[in-house]
Amino acid sequence: MTAPRRALVTGASRGIGAAIARGLAADGYAVLLNYRSRDDEAEAVQRAIEAAGGEAHLARFDVTDGDAAERALNALLASDPRPIAVVVNNAGVADDVPFPAMTARQWERVTRTTLDGFFHVTRPLVMPMVRARWGRIVNVSSVSGVIGNRGQVNYSAAKAGLIGATKALAQELAKRKITVNAVAPGPIDTEMLEGAPLPHILAAIPMRRIGTVDEVAGAVRFLVSDAAAYITGQVIGISGGLG
Ligand code: NDP
Repeated sequence: MTAPRRALVTGASRGIGAAIARGLAADGYAVLLNYRSRDDEAEAVQRAIEAAGGEAHLARFDVTDGDAAERALNALLASDPRPIAVVVNNAGVADDVPFPAMTARQWERVTRTTLDGFFHVTRPLVMPMVRARWGRIVNVSSVSGVIGNRGQVNYSAAKAGLIGATKALAQELAKRKITVNAVAPGPIDTEMLEGAPLPHILAAIPMRRIGTVDEVAGAVRFLVSDAAAYITGQVIGISGGLG
């Protein structure tokens, strides 16, 4: 890495996003912590990064709100000459229910957070990345988007759509030294897993354990690194062999 760079992580106030943010900060990035609502959690992540000698800034906006995202991103681009060279689209929600009982609201909340969120956050940052002649985009999909999961028709559709967007954008940007990849975690120990039927889930995982947030962050850090310069349009499963 030659010049100091910034990395934006969406949904960075807890769980997988917070671990990715801590990891990228340890790798020397000034990290922009996006989140929607919980200031106290985001501030705790910021303090932890600073205590470890890193740099982090809060970037609160709702990724489903295109105008808010564009305003926030333009302000971030204008306020600092360092390029935003890394974008990790991690913000996501699940709202599980058997399909016949799924409401339009549940369908929209899940698909809009993942797919509109990807669009609203990534599109304004692509041309600046092209001008900087280097970039990394990592999308946090799910094993549910690769193999499907009952009760998650909305979530599987959103996460599979994100993989399609990853592969198409990778082709558009390949000549520009910008890579676009996805990670597909299996069940990971975060708030999202609260209330899930653990014995049933464990039985389906060849490694018979839930993954950790740092195991997902490790794969993202690798995809962002110079060592991964020739990898684009790929989906890396982090799932203990599931899928
Ligand atoms: P958490 O629920 O622990 O954290 C979600 C994060 O996303 C929070 O920071 C939350 O912030 C933020 N967020 C949610 N909606 C928005 C929004 N509209 N705008 C901005 N930020 C938002 O989730 P995980 O850490 O478990 O999941 C992270 C990603 O990993 C998700 O995309 C998820 O689908 C994916 N994943 C998770 C797996 C798991 O087992 N945990 C498995 C596979 C994939 P706030 O609270 O402020 O809204």
